[in-house]
Amino acid sequence: MEKKLDKQVAIVTGASSGIGTGCAMALADAGATVVINYPFPSTKAAADEVVKSILTTGGKAISYQCDVSKEDEVVKMFGDVVQQLGTVDILINNAGLQKDAKFTEMSLADWNLVIGINLTGQFLCAREAIKEFLRRGDDGKSKSIGKIICMSSVHQIIPWAGHANYAASKGGINMLMKTIAQEFAPQKIRINSIAPGAIQTPINKQAWDTPEHLSNLLKLIPDQRIGQPDDIGRAAVWLASDDSDYVNGATLFVDGGMTLYPRFVDNG
Ligand code: NAD
Repeated sequence: MEKKLDKQVAIVTGASSGIGTGCAMALADAGATVVINYPFPSTKAAADEVVKSILTTGGKAISYQCDVSKEDEVVKMFGDVVQQLGTVDILINNAGLQKDAKFTEMSLADWNLVIGINLTGQFLCAREAIKEFLRRGDDGKSKSIGKIICMSSVHQIIPWAGHANYAASKGGINMLMKTIAQEFAPQKIRINSIAPGAIQTPINKQAWDTPEHLSNLLKLIPDQRIGQPDDIGRAAVWLASDDSDYVNGATLFVDGGMTLYPRFVDNG
């Protein structure tokens, strides 16, 4: 791949599995030095495996433990990365999880857990990233002084029964992303979202782990295949590179057509 992100430092949150790993590998392939963020000691081995495969292919990466829902840990991560790698040029705000329940049975703890990681985590990381972009200013590496890509979901527009906390977090990401894109565009910071459809990762294993589940899922996907982390990784590289320099405050749907209302194909 052309080294469009050469000399740039990228933090990818939740990068020890799934879409985060896909983004990290693609960014490293495009020349970025990538910080593989993972939340807990139990996910360190997986994060180190991602680092290893990037180093093996000639890329640059380190792993870093931080729970994105904890303000002190996020502030420390950005401080440590700036000290070790000089700056941060790209943030992929990817960490997220689901804790599903019927709405009447959803506990406040489950609501707070999902909002805390999926939405507050993106707020905290974006805030620290923007502070660093402004501190460093234009150093000639890119047309923007910094780029943020927020991992949203098709559920920022598709309501999802039984997943009120998750859908609310993704709807929130949409307005967080647009608002800060508007606020910092004059300073040459670009902020966009990717809204994946169904991507084959641990988060949605129950949707593809048997032929029957997969066949049901494919009814929702006009392109007739489940997405792979690399589908998102390539989109992330484009949004992080100067190729998308005039794209700001946008959501790129990477969903095989899931948002085309496929059930209406036979006249509804
Ligand atoms: P995944 O479960 O493989 O990845 C989620 C990652 O987030 C894991 O690596 C996990 O360790 C990390 N994480 C969880 N809590 C964290 C915390 N407090 N701090 C830091 N990291 C934490 O699932 P995925 O599908 O790769 O999900 C990645 C993102 O993509 C999520 O935001 C998810 O909502 C979004 N997404 C996924 C799909 C899909 O179909 N897979 C679709 C739309 C959106």
